[in-house]
This record gives sequence, structure tokens and C-alpha cells, in this order.
Amino acid sequence: MHVNIYIDGRITLCCRSGALRADEGEGRHRDISIYTDTFASIWNSEAYRSTRRSLFERKQVSQCANCYEQERLTGSSLRVMANNKLLHALTGKRSLDEAMNDVLERSHANQFYEPQPLSYHLWVGSNCNMRCRMCSAEFSTSIQGDAIHSRWRPATAWRPSHNRFGNMQWGASDALFNEEIFPKGAKVWDVMFSGGEPLINKSVINLFRRLASEPRSDNVDLTITTNGSVNPDSFTATLERFRKVKALVSADGCGVLNEFIRFNSRWRHVSENIARFSRMKNGTTCVCPTVSAYNVFGLEELVAFCHERKVGCLLENVLCDPPFLSIAALPPSIVDHAIEHWKAVKGLNSSEFVLGQIDGLLRRISDDGRRHSRELFDSFVAFNKDINARHGTTVREANPRLYDLLKRCEYGFAEE
Ligand code: SF4
Repeated sequence: MHVNIYIDGRITLCCRSGALRADEGEGRHRDISIYTDTFASIWNSEAYRSTRRSLFERKQVSQCANCYEQERLTGSSLRVMANNKLLHALTGKRSLDEAMNDVLERSHANQFYEPQPLSYHLWVGSNCNMRCRMCSAEFSTSIQGDAIHSRWRPATAWRPSHNRFGNMQWGASDALFNEEIFPKGAKVWDVMFSGGEPLINKSVINLFRRLASEPRSDNVDLTITTNGSVNPDSFTATLERFRKVKALVSADGCGVLNEFIRFNSRWRHVSENIARFSRMKNGTTCVCPTVSAYNVFGLEELVAFCHERKVGCLLENVLCDPPFLSIAALPPSIVDHAIEHWKAVKGLNSSEFVLGQIDGLLRRISDDGRRHSRELFDSFVAFNKDINARHGTTVREANPRLYDLLKRCEYGFAEE
């Protein structure tokens, strides 16, 4: 039912599973890619059909191992949540098992050929106007163009053997969207756009307009991850033609802290755009910070900002990569302060949702603290020096509390 197309064009069952591979015979395999294969051939490739066959035979699918493990530990997973959402939308009030049986029986009857996906996650290219510290040249053309940042955070080495769009990124092809992925009349239910920054991609805006003009647009849910730099007013009327629009706004703090971590962002614009998204009549807005060494002190202001404006704020995205910007890079004395800090923040909150988020964050801070090494701290200091010299910024100005703790920590700290 679902397809995930990454920035580099590779195809996976979802954003948590491994790349789908084509069997080329004689023991040779290759990653399936939208750069080399048409969308129709991907969607009914042997890799997809054999996955459907396995599901019909009630066999576990190797690409879904992460979700099976998560279900074993917690009773739920992205797989379960996505199935619930889509199958209920498709089949009404019946149980998930009944709905799943229906879909699989129909697929079996069609020899596991399917007309089109119902749900899409599209990483529509690396065009981005920002250079967030934790990001890489893989996801941001601005970082790619910066010699210092891209040396620290290069793009991954995987490249398609051929690009059928010439020099263009696949997500910039109107023809690909209109003729292959979403041909006229396609029964789409759910599309998520990630980047890069999807809202500076003209082909994405064109696609919104086209899908919005189709009769069943009010059956379609859109989810858009955005850095909040783009004013949605000019396409609000378009977005309001869909059933639901969820804006997931990436912001890592309020004011100068966000601008320090997300270089090129302007907090005034980001906060105004959060308000604009929130006013949409079919919209929900959720601010999704990346919790890192830089903002483990200071994020509480963003939590309060969102709470005051009745906007969701998720603290679940705790940075793992690069490890030298994660909480594990902070010296043990600072991790201890961070734990006390968030316990104090917890005491000031009463919303059950926020309290649950803070509990989860406290667990992650403790876990990450146990992974600390001096090498991570040294890389953090070296990266910080390089990027600050490039941006003309300092931790002292962006996050005075963190700066004070760093100055007094067991290793000492100098950023100039
Ligand atoms: S806005 Fe997103 S894609 Fe752009 S640099 Fe920041 S994290 Fe990377």
C-alpha cells in the first residue's frame, strides 16, 4: 500500500525499512531506484510482489524487522499505526484483521499486481535554504555548497548508475509526478513530503495545485515537513481543499537558539509561519525539534511557546547522527545537569502529554549519557569552532546556560 522514495531515488517499503533490491540473475542484485526504473515497474516489481505474497502467506517480511521488534517490546509500531490508519480509512469500521484480509485476498486474486500505492512518503530532493548544524550535504544543497560544513557532513556515497532525468533531481520532475507517480484519477489517500525543504520545490507546489483540483482531493491527507521558512499564505486556499493537512515544523528552540542551530532561519518568520499553518481550517501543526547537545538546555522555551499557542510539540526526535552533536557528546557533569534541568521543567508542567514527552526525553538523556566518550566531546568542540568561525556565531551568545556549564566542565571549553 505504501511507497517511500528517498532523496537519492532508492525505494523502501517505509522510512524505517531497508532498500528494495532487484534480482538481476546469476547472484547479482541492485538497489531499485526511481532514477533508473519507472514508477510502474517499481510498484509491481518482483520485490514488491514477493513482499505482498509473503504478507498474504502470513510470513514476516525481512524489511519490517525493526517494527516487529518494536511490537515485541512495546505492543505497537509504525507498521501497526500505519495499517490502522489506512485500512480503517479504506474499509470503514471493521476490525484491522478483517480489513487486512480483504486487501490481501484482493491482491492475491490479482497475482499481487496492484494498480497504485494508497500512501506515499516522498523525499522530494535536497534543495534547501538552510544549513542546520546536524544536517548533511545529502539533505541540503546549501550544505553541499559549503566547503566547511560538507567536509564534516558529506553526502553518502551511493549514486544511481544512471539518471533518466538528466542532471535534475527526481523530485524536480513535473512529468514524473503527473505521468508516473500520480497519473490523473489516481486514488491517493495519504502523501507525506520531506526534503530538503519541500515548500521551495516548484514541482511540489504544482503537484499540490493539481491534486487539489481533482474531484477526490477532499479524501486526501497531506503531511508536510518544513523548516518553517516559507509563508504558506499563497497556497493556503490550495491546501484547504485536502481532507487534512499536517505541518511538521522543524524548529530547535526559540529566537537566537533556533537561528544558531538552523543557520539561515529567522525566528520571526518561523514563528509567524507556525501561526499561519495553525490557522488553516483543515490543518494541524506540530513542532518537531531535533534534541541535541546544543539545545538540551533551552528547548523548554519552545515547549512553552507551543503550549501557549496550542500547537503540538514532539520531543521524540533525539539526535543520534552525527554522534558528536548528540547528548552523548556532553561531559557527564553536564548530562547530570540536563537530567536535573528536565526534572525541574517537568515540575512546572501539568499537561499529561507534555509530562509523557519529558519522561521519554529523560530516559533518552540518561541512555545517551552512558554512551559518552572524550572523543565525541573533542569532535563537538572542533566542529563547533569550525562552524562558528564560518557563521560568525558563538555558543556563549546562543545558549549562555550551556556555555557556562561547558566552561566549568571537567574538560574545560574554549570556542574562540
Ligand atoms: S532545513 Fe532540513 S534539510 Fe534543510 S538544512 Fe535543515 S535539517 Fe537539513
